[in-house]
Amino acid sequence: MNSFTISARRLLASLGALTLCAMCDAANVDYFADNGYGNPVSTMQHPAAEHFNGVTYVAYSGPHEDPYIAAYVHATGQWIGPVQAGINTMGKSPDQVDAGELDNHGRPALVVDRQGYIHLVFGAHGGDPSFGENKFGTPGKGRLTHVVSQKPGDITAWKTLENISPFGTYTQWVKLANGDLYLFYRHGSHRSDWVYQKSTDDGRTFTPEVSVIKHKQSAGKPTVDDSWYAWFDNGNGDTITASYVYHPCANPGHSNLRINTYYMLMDCRDGSWTNVQREQLTLPVTKESADKLTLIQATGTEKSQHGTCHVDADGRPHVYFRFPHGGVRYFRWDGKAWLQPTTVADASGGGHDGDFIIDSPLKIRMLLDQNQEGTGAVGWWNTNDGGRTWARGANVFSLKDAGFEVTTLVRNAHPDARMLVAGKMSDQEHLYHHMYLIGDHGALGRPEAEASHLGDRLELIKAMAKGSPKKDAKRKKKAGLNDDEP
Ligand code: ZN
Repeated sequence: MNSFTISARRLLASLGALTLCAMCDAANVDYFADNGYGNPVSTMQHPAAEHFNGVTYVAYSGPHEDPYIAAYVHATGQWIGPVQAGINTMGKSPDQVDAGELDNHGRPALVVDRQGYIHLVFGAHGGDPSFGENKFGTPGKGRLTHVVSQKPGDITAWKTLENISPFGTYTQWVKLANGDLYLFYRHGSHRSDWVYQKSTDDGRTFTPEVSVIKHKQSAGKPTVDDSWYAWFDNGNGDTITASYVYHPCANPGHSNLRINTYYMLMDCRDGSWTNVQREQLTLPVTKESADKLTLIQATGTEKSQHGTCHVDADGRPHVYFRFPHGGVRYFRWDGKAWLQPTTVADASGGGHDGDFIIDSPLKIRMLLDQNQEGTGAVGWWNTNDGGRTWARGANVFSLKDAGFEVTTLVRNAHPDARMLVAGKMSDQEHLYHHMYLIGDHGALGRPEAEASHLGDRLELIKAMAKGSPKKDAKRKKKAGLNDDEP
């Protein structure tokens, strides 16, 4: 598109806005950025967004898999950014057209500290072996990187803080009410412990890593390692919950099997962990102690994947896990036992993912993505009977010929901005995706020219991608690989 076209369109848009509608902007598009790259967001690296002092900050992988951040000012309805906040050392140049070439594990997780500084951690799938010995597992790729905004509430300038381990992936920020920050992550590639580092000074210094869930050779199985996929978030008061699944990893090699569901929680006052019955756990939790003390359900050979977990006013956990062949299943502890899990949304229409809100122990709302006959939608699923039955509620946002990648709910969300999502069109020859911030009034859009950040990248990609049978073959071979896997 040449500059004349843009000018003409802008002019027409302005005229349209003046003559047709004084309030709305006819040129608005639903997305706030067009430069989400690869699999730009996930529920695993979380949160990807936070509402703080009237502004919702959102972070995702952009060009070169670098972390990008944008800010939506609720009072004025204006967007700022996106801007690049750092460099992902796993990024590749030039732009890739083969999805299998991207790692995706280096997506950013975002938190705003008490003073309003914004922090992102990103950029690793384990951490490069050149950083030395990984005391908690196997190294991998990239460098776990922590950047902070140079000023509170200002996304335009960033600096790197070298105060966390270079080894890691699946970064997850938990912020307590008193402002203490906990950075949870897997300390390396898939055969590694899950650890946290704690900061009581707004992310300027962190404690050394504390191992929470241990990887090790499986008892009696020399070619299997006990590994885990875990998800951490606030419980009630000064507690942090962990919901997780077991990964019997083939060593050497890898397998994509994940089974069972587990739950436990930490008392942040003394760093102790207990199971749901409040029996003390010895850290790090092993496969043996997890099976004995923290198991929710043994799933047999049925594959389970992490979901999200929240607690109700009584401190009782509600959890969902994803079952590739069984859909989203909801689990609830009623004070005495885990109730029989129920299906929220079945597996039709591809993978569901998302997060939920507990209004009361019996009233829960899940915001999930779903693809039905080519139309991607993010919508509510509701229960009023403690999860015994679930009913499809209203769509928040939908797109024809598209699917979504979703995040967990925005921390401290404004109702207008509940979830950051990437919209992936079903037939496109490049890996760039529109990014949306959606809430109770749909997507928070902006004028098309402001949402455009790709420059001539798509033209360059088109020229590059022509006639490459080798790449096509490679793409087919790698199709279906979920980047959550290793
Ligand atoms: Zn593995």
